[in-house]
Amino acid sequence: MKPAPFEYFVPTSVEEAVELLARHGDDAKVLAGGQSLVPMMNFRLAQPAVLIDINRIVELGYIREGDSSIAIGAMTRQRVVETSPMVRDKCAILSEALANVGHQAIRNRGTMGGTLAHGDPAAEVATVLLTLGGSVTVAGPQGKRELSPEELLAGPYAAGISSDELIVEINFPILAANETHGFLEMSRRHGDFALAGVAAVLRMGEGNICERARVALCGVAPTPVRATEVENQLTGKRLDASTIQAAAELASRAVDCEDEYHASREYRTHLCQVYVRRTIQLALERWGNN
Ligand SMILES: Cc1cc2nc3c(=O)[nH]c(=O)nc-3n(C[C@H](O)[C@H](O)[C@H](O)COP(=O)(O)OP(=O)(O)OC[C@H]3O[C@@H](n4cnc5c(N)ncnc54)[C@H](O)[C@@H]3O)c2cc1C
Repeated sequence: MKPAPFEYFVPTSVEEAVELLARHGDDAKVLAGGQSLVPMMNFRLAQPAVLIDINRIVELGYIREGDSSIAIGAMTRQRVVETSPMVRDKCAILSEALANVGHQAIRNRGTMGGTLAHGDPAAEVATVLLTLGGSVTVAGPQGKRELSPEELLAGPYAAGISSDELIVEINFPILAANETHGFLEMSRRHGDFALAGVAAVLRMGEGNICERARVALCGVAPTPVRATEVENQLTGKRLDASTIQAAAELASRAVDCEDEYHASREYRTHLCQVYVRRTIQLALERWGNN
């Protein structure tokens, strides 16, 4: 399989990349880790006339710890983030979720900006960002702007950025001392895209009372989605087997998918309920072992 012919540019700064994007508009595609774009080009599902390779923009590769969040440059490889001791210490849900993204070879090349721009409905990184309530910074001809995860997740395989914008940074809030988390997913084989996945962050108080719950699902709707009815059911409750079960049953309300050859809607709905229950239990166990 070979891609259709294209013109190739290798900018070395964000300004240069943005200028190229502005000049070539919808004809251009950004090449980051190439783990999604290159197969699509080889199958001729994508035929950009211009390829803007951002692999030499060194300024986009970093992980920086701030007071309340971790800033990650868009070209930082997924495996670098997954294995960062600081990320594991301050935002373990992100390391755990990343371990489920494809195989290690894919994560060695795949980038943090690339997964968010690609917009796969089963993308783990976007699901964690939604759960934590982080933000994404994009650069365009008009300068920089910040997007919420909801603004970024515009639709399946469609990020909420325009064709002349580049994702430059992602901010993941650091988990607080009174927060516990879990990330679990089900895929048919290790490395496959999730049939259903769950990310949860619970803010806990005295006596296992859940003060705030944020729960997001992947693989069961056109984009990763918050399971708000699950969150509402957990908030203010003492977490035990029955409150967790009652909340898990509400996960089906967030499911918005059709039957397709990987799984029926019914099966994905069932997985959501089971995995929400297991993820909340895992978070609670971790809290208990604190
Ligand atoms: C076998 C296999 C299994 C996989 N399994 C999973 C999985 O389980 N979960 C998962 O989430 N992903 C999975 N992936 C996808 C992988 O995570 C990719 O790394 C990711 O989707 C794209 O990142 P990339 O850096 O390779 O981007 P690329 O493939 O280079 O680009 C993807 C898209 O994003 C655009 N883009 C890239 N960077 C930017 C930027 N900074 N600003 C604006 N636009 C940009 C490109 O133009 C392109 O449209 C899998 C891939 C393969 C091949």
